[in-house]
Amino acid sequence: MRNVIIIGSGPAGMTAAIYTARANLKPLVISGLERGGQVTLTNDLENYPGFPDGLGGFEMYQLLEKQAQKFGAEIIYDTVTRVDLSGEVKKVFAAGQEFDALSVIIATGSTPKRLGVLGEQEMIGRGVSYCATCDGFFFTGKPVAVIGGGNSALDEGLFLTRFASKVTIIHRRDRLRADAILQQRAMDNEKIEFIWDTVVEEIAGKQGVEKLILKNAKTGEKSELAVDGVFVFIGHRPNVELFETQVALADDRTIQTDRRTRTNLPGVFACGDVQDSIYRQAITAAGSGCQSAIEAEKYITHLQGKAYPGK
Ligand code: NAP
Repeated sequence: MRNVIIIGSGPAGMTAAIYTARANLKPLVISGLERGGQVTLTNDLENYPGFPDGLGGFEMYQLLEKQAQKFGAEIIYDTVTRVDLSGEVKKVFAAGQEFDALSVIIATGSTPKRLGVLGEQEMIGRGVSYCATCDGFFFTGKPVAVIGGGNSALDEGLFLTRFASKVTIIHRRDRLRADAILQQRAMDNEKIEFIWDTVVEEIAGKQGVEKLILKNAKTGEKSELAVDGVFVFIGHRPNVELFETQVALADDRTIQTDRRTRTNLPGVFACGDVQDSIYRQAITAAGSGCQSAIEAEKYITHLQGKAYPGK
């Protein structure tokens, strides 16, 4: 019987691992297939406090892993296939085994949303991408489109200008959602052009992406844009499939918690993007991972017959 199992290895999960390990709870982390989570897709984290020169996303994961292991966290590099969180003993199935624990911290993050248009599914890996850091290089000297108007679209669009001959950002409205500093940088970049009030209707091509069929959301007018690649950054959906029949969800399908990261099930906590649809920053994920770790420790202390601190 373990004290705590942490599911997920992004900044939330790994921070929870560092804190529970330092509390001598000997946590088990089950990392998921994408070790480090979405932050590892970021080329350069510029806004993580304490790193004025920026930090690579995967580099951040390696530092977090080293720090967690230093204090005794155990990490299994596999995916959880099933959980049973209802009883006092929490059951987590992964790597062909059952792991039992007194508490579970869910930190499974979120997954990029798809456009859901004709041609998208077939063209994944043939010009459709959800990760500029991973695939930008393949479009050296070629025109690409970026879909979305948030921080991800602009951040990744700016990154793509290192490779692409031209980056066209297609946004469904006439105002961006992204932070002012990113808007300014994108407007100032001569490789970036914007197409406003426009949605993608189809991604077309034979062997790979050749063009986008666009529709003006206000006038209904259709047009075409010739591109070799299309990068989709239209938000994320929380990774809750494993838990949705057991743990209460909020309207936006994040895991519902109180302000102490406690779910509706005693001993089950949730942190990071799976529980937060508002901030979704590496630093806020890390902060909520810390909260979950402290709460898990309090819960375990309570199971040992002591009062639940702070209740
Ligand atoms: P987001 O802020 O939710 O923005 C998604 C964008 O996609 C919005 O502009 C939205 O349009 C558009 N969109 C949504 N569904 C669409 C659809 N079906 N078709 C076309 N467009 C669609 O998502 P995000 O940019 O991934 O950012 C998520 C969070 O991560 C945010 O909190 C953001 O601040 C954070 N983040 C921060 C940084 C940074 O600080 N450098 C970098 C990346 C991400 P509308 O505007 O019309 O809704």
